[in-house]
Amino acid sequence: MTAARDAKAGRVAKAAGRYEPYAYFQLMEVSLRELLVEKGIVTDDAIAGAMAAMRARGPERGAAMVARAWLDPAYKARMLANGSMAAEELGFEVPGLRLIVIENTPDTHNVIVCTLCSCYPRMLLGLPPEWYKSRPYRSRVVREPRKVLAEFGLKVPTKVAIRVHDSNADMRYMVLPRRPAGTEGWSEAQLAGLVTRDCLIGVADPALPKPRRRAQAARPRKPAKRANTRKPRKS
Ligand code: FE
Repeated sequence: MTAARDAKAGRVAKAAGRYEPYAYFQLMEVSLRELLVEKGIVTDDAIAGAMAAMRARGPERGAAMVARAWLDPAYKARMLANGSMAAEELGFEVPGLRLIVIENTPDTHNVIVCTLCSCYPRMLLGLPPEWYKSRPYRSRVVREPRKVLAEFGLKVPTKVAIRVHDSNADMRYMVLPRRPAGTEGWSEAQLAGLVTRDCLIGVADPALPKPRRRAQAARPRKPAKRANTRKPRKS
């Protein structure tokens, strides 16, 4: 049965106990997918495998690129010139897309969005968080980025400019954050461990792990309950 007939028959949300026709883009997606499978261009298994790999992916690939760039200025230059090629250099495919890496500097902070829908460098960061796809983020970050970033807990000083980069179907952005002070001599793996998804979107900066609070460390341990050492009364 075709997607159109399926939607017409009201089977889309039958499991949920109510009729909900496909939205326009859902119908487009299902129609195209069924057509590709029918013509033998892809298989259902291949699509399911690709979806599973995407869901399992985190921001490790993007973090690995950032760590390499922090340690290797030549790689960083190549990454800023051509993000897609720099990703592929580390074995990460960026099929059919132009990846643009934008560098945070002492003067400029960058943040990414897709104002139209949810374009995101999934091949490097995995699936986007829900808030990235939400209308409030998409509409507000372009109008009042400083305020939105502050709501994420990132206070960008007023002397630092904020640039918002709008992704689209052909081009994706990724932020190259600044390397935190105090990481001199760190290994590539250690540095990559500091780079979170939010740093690569631009709504956070990499931070060193917080040291245990001094007060907490100095607080004496609660003494264990004393055993009853009183001698039994003589009767
Ligand atoms: Fe989009």
